[in-house]
Amino acid sequence: MLQAIGARLAATTRANDRIARLGGDEFVVLTSDVDADVAVSVAERLLAAIAEPLALDGSHLVLRASAGVALRAGPLVDGRVAPVDLGSLLQGADLALYRSKANGRGRVSLYDVALRDESRRHLVIQQALRSAIHDDGLRLVYQPIVDLPTGLVRRMEALVRFDHPEFGPVPPDEFILIAERAGLIRDLDDWVLGAAASQIARWSAARPHLSCRVGVNLSSTDLRDPTYVARALGIIERAGCRPDQLTVELTESVLADRIVIETIRRLAACGIGAAIDDFGAGYSSLNLLRQLRVRTLKLDRVFVADVASDPATRTIVSTVVELAHALGQGVVAEGIETVEQLRVLREIGCFGGQGYLLGRPMDATAMDAIIGRPLVDWAMLTAAP
Ligand code: C2E
Ligand code: CA
Ligand code: CA
Repeated sequence: MLQAIGARLAATTRANDRIARLGGDEFVVLTSDVDADVAVSVAERLLAAIAEPLALDGSHLVLRASAGVALRAGPLVDGRVAPVDLGSLLQGADLALYRSKANGRGRVSLYDVALRDESRRHLVIQQALRSAIHDDGLRLVYQPIVDLPTGLVRRMEALVRFDHPEFGPVPPDEFILIAERAGLIRDLDDWVLGAAASQIARWSAARPHLSCRVGVNLSSTDLRDPTYVARALGIIERAGCRPDQLTVELTESVLADRIVIETIRRLAACGIGAAIDDFGAGYSSLNLLRQLRVRTLKLDRVFVADVASDPATRTIVSTVVELAHALGQGVVAEGIETVEQLRVLREIGCFGGQGYLLGRPMDATAMDAIIGRPLVDWAMLTAAP
């Protein structure tokens, strides 16, 4: 297959263009005397050539590739063209390729000023994040998870925040991805677990009869790590709280993997609960429910968004709730923003709810005032329309 692709690339380029295979399934084409438009159209022609059906050993393959383009002249700097060495040229093409893949494959992207600035921002954030993890430069906020029959706050989700001295608050979706790519996610998630566990321990010490649980988010790296369970238990013990005061939240995309299933089983054996986050947003939901007994399903906010306005969505949500209850699992509806959504979810019999309507993520001091109590405006929120 690689040979066939090599031949197609050669047939689609000019005689004095250079073609090389970098390794794996990555090829490089070096061409000269082209501007950005021509370079991009060359790349598009190459992708089209690769996408032609390929007959191989009696089967027909349809292949897809993505491409990144960088120009030797480099991006414009102050309106002038900066020369670029070959190493940077390859690096630029690689970053552009990365963007193509992120945007859904089969695409061509050009390394430009925006991409250069973006990768510079990533690098700066990555370095700052590395020190923040080790110097307690991160902070946690807590979002209440409300028992919908009563309005009581007995659970919460811990969400990590990172403020960069120059860029200000960096969105978690952005820095979590950077941490994952830079191999920092394990330390970051450990820090979060430790901080959340210490906070729960402080609350429990101040109010011994308080029953409350905190959920932390885990990345797939943690769950695939065979040492995770022992490490987590060590962190929890040092923090001085009980394992059953913690729940780990994992997304569907993480699962369906033997190691992960085993990790969750071992966590459960120690008393640490698991919740499937963004439930329903992935592809494997039903199969997952069969393979894995988690304590809680966190229903993705796309379902909650339409639950009050779309009868089909309402039917799906109420069936998921029924199914979960039959399996002995709880459901938390995520992203509740309107009173109508809250009303329908209570009618359906969904036990848990989270969302801006019920409470935004807040610091520990603000959380302290509502924990273990019903929300102050609960009567107003649940009054008949
Ligand atoms: P998630 O686990 O699905 O977390 C819920 C996200 O939804 C939070 O965004 C929260 O602020 C937001 N949210 C809550 N209520 C509402 C609502 O009513 N409407 C809308 N539109 N959004 C709502 P946030 O804090 O920006 O976190 C984004 C993602 O970052 C999280 O999604 C989680 O995947 C990841 N994340 C956050 N903290 C950690 C962490 O400590 N470790 C790891 N690995 N990932 C984390
Ligand atoms: Ca979560
Ligand atoms: Ca979620």
